Amino acid sequence: MMKKKPKDLATLRHKAEERLQQQTQRLKSISLLDMQDLAHELGTHQIELEMQNEELRRAQDELEASRSRYADLYDFAPTSYLTFDKDGLIREMNLSGAGLLGVDRRLLINKPFSVFVVKDDRDTFRAHLRETLKRETRQIGEIRIRRKDGSVLSVQLQSITAKGPEGNGTFCRTAAIDITERKQMEEAIRHEAHHDMLTDLPNRQLFMKILSIELAQAQRGKKRFAVLFLDLDRFKQINDTMGHDIGDKLLREVAERLRRSVRASDTVSRRGGDEFNILLTEIPHADDIITIAKKVVDSFSEPYVISGHEFNMSTSMGISIYPEDGKTMEAQFKNADIAMYHAKEQGGNSYRFYNTTMNIRSIERIRFESWLRQALDRAELVVYYQPQLTIDTRQVNCAEALVRWRHPELGMLDPVRFIPFAEEIGFITAIDEWVLKTACAQFKEWHNAGLSHLRVSVNLSAKQLQKSDLVERIAGILRETGFDPHHLDVEIAESVAMRTLEQTIPNIIKLAEMGVGISIDNFGTGYSSTDYLKKLPIQKLNIDKSVINDIATDSYRRAIISAATDMAQKMKLRVIAVGVETEEQLEFLRSIGCQEMQGFLFSRPLPSEEFGKFIALRKG
Ligand code: C2E
Ligand code: MG
Repeated sequence: MMKKKPKDLATLRHKAEERLQQQTQRLKSISLLDMQDLAHELGTHQIELEMQNEELRRAQDELEASRSRYADLYDFAPTSYLTFDKDGLIREMNLSGAGLLGVDRRLLINKPFSVFVVKDDRDTFRAHLRETLKRETRQIGEIRIRRKDGSVLSVQLQSITAKGPEGNGTFCRTAAIDITERKQMEEAIRHEAHHDMLTDLPNRQLFMKILSIELAQAQRGKKRFAVLFLDLDRFKQINDTMGHDIGDKLLREVAERLRRSVRASDTVSRRGGDEFNILLTEIPHADDIITIAKKVVDSFSEPYVISGHEFNMSTSMGISIYPEDGKTMEAQFKNADIAMYHAKEQGGNSYRFYNTTMNIRSIERIRFESWLRQALDRAELVVYYQPQLTIDTRQVNCAEALVRWRHPELGMLDPVRFIPFAEEIGFITAIDEWVLKTACAQFKEWHNAGLSHLRVSVNLSAKQLQKSDLVERIAGILRETGFDPHHLDVEIAESVAMRTLEQTIPNIIKLAEMGVGISIDNFGTGYSSTDYLKKLPIQKLNIDKSVINDIATDSYRRAIISAATDMAQKMKLRVIAVGVETEEQLEFLRSIGCQEMQGFLFSRPLPSEEFGKFIALRKG
């Protein structure tokens, strides 16, 4: 290959001179004017540059101001904002966020938020965090947090994903809204729907729900549970006579005592009115039911003091056990109810376990009840009259009206066969009013027929005595029949007068003011206190037939009657001995100064026709 010939020095110099010449030529071509323009242009650029710098500074200031404004807004916003990383550590938060937790903000950064979340809700929080980081859309969740001071708040979380301060990694930015009040309100509404307003006990619906859960568990686990059905004895009387305010307070106190008498695992519920249910679960031994049942009945033994009044309350309770007494909820309820009625029939203040023979009797009861309710319409009730006479003169001055039931299948029934039952089913006042009306109408007839000295004495049940409109009703009957109140006596059982004295006094006084005579019936049957004699406008004491029956053999009874007669005479009361069957009894009564008598020795209770004849005969 031929080597390139190097250029000589003269050629190089020539080329350099040529370039210099060209540049000189170019410089010469820029005129002075151009130079001036150039200088001007440079100046303008400088100004523009300065202006731009100024604008930039201003923009930076504004950015700074807006950044601090944003920081203020963020910090003082009422909503709590928190930023969590994927592990749930708090990376950033505003003041509200720290306030929500009740902790200084500086102490919270990089701390796990879950320590503030209520244990049961920690999984919910973790799932919320996961979902937020996974999705683009806003996630909403609810959790409860425990603040540093221990209080628990319900919080709604609204979260979105966000880039971290360094732009790397994904964060969860959350607005936490305190919804405690709303939750409490919702809870209160839910509670109200499931609880009895008066006693705050679970209501019937909630009880059924708990029972259904228990039943399902018991079926699976072959467990046992018991349903208790309680009905308060005589509560309606107290409620009617003392007013609902006292009745309500009494129910509240009963609820409280019931709650205390069972275990935490048991449920006490108010069914309505004066009826309660108890569900006993966790029963290792059947004997445990007896222990609890006794405790429940005993919880009533202390008197209840309500608004300064003292009340003795008791309950009748029926018990049905799963699985022995029924496999369904309905069967459990029905059988506990039936057993309760049996406890009530036995006089209350006790409990009864269900057994299958009860079922048959309860069907009889239902039939009997519908019969009795129809008895009035079907004119099956009749009034008999038993004469009361003056011992010395043997003159009949009065008669006691005694009801009977001419039953189409069972024949003539004495009052003991149906009066207690009528009291229980609340039908007694209808019967009493009918008897009163019938007796007044009948005696009005006899008065018109010339027997105007005859008085009639009518039994009043406790229920009727407590009726607020009792006086008007009796006045109405007297008006309707045209019978003179001064010839009417009403008999109030001693036990009733004693037990409900405070509530019945106003009614009794009003009756006496109308001219109606007040008698204390069944006198001497157990009540040792005679305080009520001073408080009530009584005219007559009816010594009970059980007392008269005992006088031949029982010297103590004799002493009692003697003292009572003595006292009655001093108080200017009439004393009548009921149930006189023998001459000896009569002799004794005469010896102690008792003036009047009523009994088989002289006459049994008679149907009206016979009584009419009997009187007419004696008169003639
Ligand atoms: P009571 O008021 O003590 O009535 C007296 C009872 O003694 C009557 O029973 C009467 O037949 C009975 N008796 C009278 N003398 C003798 C006697 O010498 N020997 C015997 N063994 N008994 C005698 P009765 O008619 O069976 O009435 C029972 C109870 O039923 C009454 O007892 C009264 O508490 C109640 N009763 C009757 N009628 C009515 C009524 O219309 N309304 C209400 N609320 N109760 C009534
Ligand atoms: Mg009587």
